[in-house]
Amino acid sequence: CGIVGAASHQNIVDVLVEGLRRLEYRGYDSCGFAVINGNDAKHPIERARTTARVSELSEQGKDFFGTLGIAHTRWATHGKPDTQNAHPHISNNLIAVVHNGIIENYEVLRTELSAAGYIFTSETDTEVIAHLIHQQYIASGQKDIAQSVKAVLPRLFGAYAIGVIAQDNPNTLVGARVGSPLVVALGDKENFLASDALALAGRAHSMMYLEEGDVVVLKADSVQVIQQSGQSVERERKPMPTQA
Ligand code: GLU
Repeated sequence: CGIVGAASHQNIVDVLVEGLRRLEYRGYDSCGFAVINGNDAKHPIERARTTARVSELSEQGKDFFGTLGIAHTRWATHGKPDTQNAHPHISNNLIAVVHNGIIENYEVLRTELSAAGYIFTSETDTEVIAHLIHQQYIASGQKDIAQSVKAVLPRLFGAYAIGVIAQDNPNTLVGARVGSPLVVALGDKENFLASDALALAGRAHSMMYLEEGDVVVLKADSVQVIQQSGQSVERERKPMPTQA
């Protein structure tokens, strides 16, 4: 239902949770975040999820530190609303994903990935995204998370926006949109993703809308948009909406 992502040099747990709080109005049944400490390459992905309100997630967040992260409010479409089905979903401690929307062909992908040895820990359509990206990331041997995300998009049917991080790429946040809204918000030595720019009003100074099929690579000090053809592209920068 709602996505927030951040790439910074500072702790971003608060901005993730505050972003989710501002997306609460959309409705949700559970929420969660995953963060990585970019100062420590061996740092595992750390995750908090709850079926309680964002205010409860905020309490849990006090124990976390991360300079890179993704967060989500879920409105269940596939799989009951419980903690196991809450996002982010993680594949093999390496790839974490948040997702808005629906993957229509998830059953076929789930069967294929299970046959390839992937163990599913949720009933969601989303989890196939995490395992597919993991499979591509490992197979390519490039450790290029943006290219891995781009490579799996043609296999995902439906309408979706995603945010992705990789444990061994602790400074890179990747987003992609196919049919669901996703915006980039640009800050001072930090950059963000969100399903609605309002999530980051006051924190970012400008924003840009992504277009269909765009993959975006966010670091604290740079933003690169790769369009469907594979070419880098500049999307128009606009002022942030004023805070509601
Ligand atoms: N289809 C996904 C799920 O049920 C995402 C739902 C959403 O957009 O919140 O987990």
